Amino acid sequence: MTDIAATDAVAGRAGYLVGVDIGGTKIEAVLIGPDGRVVASRRVPARRGGDNVLDDVASLVRGVAGDRFADVAHVGIGTPGRVDAATGRIANVVNLDIDELDLGSLVSGRLGGIPVHVDNDVNAAAVGAARVLCGDDLSGTVAFLNFGTGLAAGVLVDGVLQHGYSGAAGEVGHVPVDPNRFDCPCGQRGCLETVCSGASVARLWPTADGRPPMPDLIAATRRGDGEARRVLAMVTHAIGDTLQIVAQSVDPRLIVIGGGMAKTGGPLLEVILDELHARESACPFLKGLDLGARLRLAPVDAPVGAIGAAWAS
Ligand SMILES: [Zn+2]
Repeated sequence: MTDIAATDAVAGRAGYLVGVDIGGTKIEAVLIGPDGRVVASRRVPARRGGDNVLDDVASLVRGVAGDRFADVAHVGIGTPGRVDAATGRIANVVNLDIDELDLGSLVSGRLGGIPVHVDNDVNAAAVGAARVLCGDDLSGTVAFLNFGTGLAAGVLVDGVLQHGYSGAAGEVGHVPVDPNRFDCPCGQRGCLETVCSGASVARLWPTADGRPPMPDLIAATRRGDGEARRVLAMVTHAIGDTLQIVAQSVDPRLIVIGGGMAKTGGPLLEVILDELHARESACPFLKGLDLGARLRLAPVDAPVGAIGAAWAS
C-alpha cells in the first residue's frame, strides 16, 4: 500500500482509493483511507446493460467517497467476464448483457479523469483476500482458488498480480484431467471446472429451496448416503487436482480457498484435508510439501472483491 501512496503523492492527491466489485446481482464499493483501512462501503443492486453499469459504478464511486471525492487518487474495478487489464476493456459479461465495453476509460471520463484500473473479479478477490489475511506482509507467493460459478486462480507475488502473457494466468478451470468425464462449454472434455466449480457441484448435487449444495453434500455423506459419498469423492478429487496443479506450479506460501463454496467453512476444509492426506500417504514428495498447512479459507465477513479491486494493478 505504500507504493500507491507514494504514487499519489507524486500526483498531488491525498491518497484515498475506491474499489468496486461488479457482481451479477450487486455492485459493491469501498473507500480506503490513506492508512489502508476501509472507511466507507456502499452497495446497489446490479442493473443489466453497459450504460446502466457505467451510471451505477460512477454514482457508487461518488457516493462512497462522499466529501472525500476530490481526494480519490485511483479507482479499481473488479468485474466478471473477459478483462484486458492493460486497457480496461471488458467483454462477454453474460450476466449483465455486456458484449463489449471500454469500462476503464468510460468510468474515468465520468469521474473527471481519475485513473481507473480494471481487473477480473477473481484477481481482485485474490488481492483482497491476501490483504485481509496477510495484512502488510504480502511477501512471497499467495495463490487464491475461486470455487465460484466457474473455477479459476489468482496468483500474487510480493503483492503483485500475475496476469501472464495474455491475461490467462490462473485459468486452471479449463485444464482437462479426465477424458471420460463431462463435456465442458469451453469445447474440451473433462475440465476441472466441470466437476468442482460451485455451479458444477450444484449440478451434481441439486438441492431444494436454494440451499447451497456443498454443505448439504458433506452432511449427506456423513449420514452415510452412498450417492453423496460418490459425488463428494469426485468433487474432492477434482479439488485436490486443482490444488496440486496450482501449488506445484508456483509453490505458494498460502493457498486461499475462495468463491461461494468457501462459505461452507470448516467442513469444506476438512474434506479437502482428508483428500490431501490420502494422497500424501502414498507420496512422500507430496507429504513433504505439507500443502494442508498452507490452506486458508477466504474471509467471508469482508468485501474482499471490492477491497482487492482498489489495490489490484
Ligand atoms: Zn473447459
